[in-house]
Amino acid sequence: MRVHELAKTLGLTSKDLISQLEKLGASPKNHMSVVSQEIQAALEKVKSPKPKSAKSEESAKPEPVKTKLQETKMPSASAVSVAEPPKEKKLEPAPGVKTQSVSKVPPVSAPEVKTKPAIVLEFPITVGSLSPALGRSIPELIKTLMGMGIFANVNQLLNEEIVFALAGTLGIEIQKREDVVAKVLEEKEDPKLLKPRPPVVTMMGHVDHGKTSLLDAIRKTNVAAKEKGFITQHIGAYGVDIPNKGHVTFLDTPGHEAFTAMRARGANATDVVVLVIAADDGVMPQTIEAYNHAREAGCPVVVAMNKSDLPSANPQRVMTGLQKLGLIPEEWGGKTICVKVSAKTGVGIEQLLEMLLLEAEVLELKANPNRLAAGTVIEGHISKGSGPVATVIVQKGTLRIGDIIVSGQYMGRVRALRNDRGKMIQEAGPSYAAEVSGLGGVPEAGETFFVLADERVARAITEKKVLEIREREMTCSHKHLALEDLYQRITEGNFKELKMIIKTDVQGSAEALAQQLEKMSTDSCRVRVIHSGVGGINESDIMLAVASDAIVIGFHVKADPKAQMIGEKEGVDMRFYNIIYEAVEDVRKAMEGILEPTYKEVIEGKLQVRKIFKSSKVGTIGGGNVLQGKILRSNAVRLVRNNVVVFEGKLASLKRFKDDVREVGQGYECGFSFEGFNDIQENDVLESYRLDKIAGKL
Ligand code: GDP
Repeated sequence: MRVHELAKTLGLTSKDLISQLEKLGASPKNHMSVVSQEIQAALEKVKSPKPKSAKSEESAKPEPVKTKLQETKMPSASAVSVAEPPKEKKLEPAPGVKTQSVSKVPPVSAPEVKTKPAIVLEFPITVGSLSPALGRSIPELIKTLMGMGIFANVNQLLNEEIVFALAGTLGIEIQKREDVVAKVLEEKEDPKLLKPRPPVVTMMGHVDHGKTSLLDAIRKTNVAAKEKGFITQHIGAYGVDIPNKGHVTFLDTPGHEAFTAMRARGANATDVVVLVIAADDGVMPQTIEAYNHAREAGCPVVVAMNKSDLPSANPQRVMTGLQKLGLIPEEWGGKTICVKVSAKTGVGIEQLLEMLLLEAEVLELKANPNRLAAGTVIEGHISKGSGPVATVIVQKGTLRIGDIIVSGQYMGRVRALRNDRGKMIQEAGPSYAAEVSGLGGVPEAGETFFVLADERVARAITEKKVLEIREREMTCSHKHLALEDLYQRITEGNFKELKMIIKTDVQGSAEALAQQLEKMSTDSCRVRVIHSGVGGINESDIMLAVASDAIVIGFHVKADPKAQMIGEKEGVDMRFYNIIYEAVEDVRKAMEGILEPTYKEVIEGKLQVRKIFKSSKVGTIGGGNVLQGKILRSNAVRLVRNNVVVFEGKLASLKRFKDDVREVGQGYECGFSFEGFNDIQENDVLESYRLDKIAGKL
């Protein structure tokens, strides 16, 4: 919320609020500055009467809040600190899931202040489950939440931020249970245990340049004579043995869309990208797009100049195109490996494989094979005989039959493992692909998987994941950067680069716009166009934006329906302009923190007025029944008469019979009155709506 909005809700002038905020340690620049939720919570705390508990006396003091807010940026951590005097709180969470209490540090205050151990919770959590955990009744929790402006029922899922604020209000110390998934994935390996591992390679490039043919050619040349009887299986990945030299794993889903879609889900299974360029065609728009995707993922690129068997092949032209992209071929004194190949004749394939091994050596790819396995799901489906199967790339450890495996919301015991030739195998080590059966469902491509020793922990993780998915669907939270949040992100100090994707109607405007935008770079934030191209915004642009946390700009172009849908679902900030100046202006405003967010109106319910009542106390009361959706007491409303809006504002009351109610559902009758408006007439339509902040201008 911005200063002026918050001032309005608190009934203060912006000036008074700024001085209060300064006392709390926040230094808003002006009335347009954004006030973080932690500060808002702290402000509420200072304003509200002191709770009864002994601890609350200290928590109501502004000073500890100030210290903590400066110390940490995590909303959850700062919410804890709001409820706790500074000296009692540990700055670093202790490892482990078990109780971590503040009692290890002796309390500095009076002896009667008892420090209870923190209550360890998992998020999201329903009101119903929170009640016994906190030792407070459900009605009390619902009432407290209402006081915070949150209308929840017993089954309502609450996220971490809300629960910390709620516990802070109740004077209860809580703590987040350590995220086991993050712990497994971030675990640092002892370098002594690491062993070299093969490279995992993805083919990318312009359509028809021969990615699929090249993958097929590599696979065919590599099937050993004794294996000829086996039908090669398309499991999404396959391995190639190069006698006496090593092994290369190829991801069998060519194209940068699949590559970036996986990266958008947090997976980066690819070590090296083979950029396939047809030697008779040269660098084309999708070659550039593919290269931009690879570069953003930080993947080194090896170029395969395909179709070199054709008389029209022109490697010089390919290399000139590469040079323009900043990829200087080795032949010309640069670092980019370029191999002339032909998927048709097989020429150069061996050399390409050797180059990939060489690149792997340079990259010093290593993993510990002697641990529980973890890696990425490449694809999954339901098989008639085996139920859910998933192809995985093992990234560390060794996956074995019988292992307890978790992926997303599913878990199970590995029942069977197959390689890309359909052969049953007992285990798969680092960088190897395997088809796994035994999971309880089909995980999404790009999802991580890991093996755990304890089945109970595995079950707890998957249950939590199910809740998280439910919450994401319910809250549809925007997790990606929105331009109007840029200033806040910069001032938080951990944001150094604004990434942008530009799509335009003509190449000239793409270049001009990119140049102008990049010129907006400042010392604290660089503006970098990570991809620009001609044409509408497509799915691959959106996936790149998701994977790289970038803003997408359409100049004289729109997004195709699929891109629009995914963009909205993922909360990507898509902006459309017809004038370069306006786009540049918005970026400038965003950098200065004065860009206004855009809101979308969502009508939640409609009611038709059937009867009018006059009351000397409340004025005119409209009575009627809800035609659709629901009318909420807290929502903004408007009164429409013959399609003309006659009033916009707030409800002063909403009643069913004599009772004040928070909402009235479809088909029910109710009475209402407005704040400061009495001209209600029969047959008027009352619309109840909310304003959702949207990620970008749509
Ligand atoms: P993708 O869209 O990049 O996967 O391209 P494909 O592998 O489907 O190949 C497109 C077309 O180029 C097909 O007709 C192939 O037969 C042809 N092609 C692929 N590689 C070669 C090659 O090395 N030489 C020749 N002459 N044609 C090739």
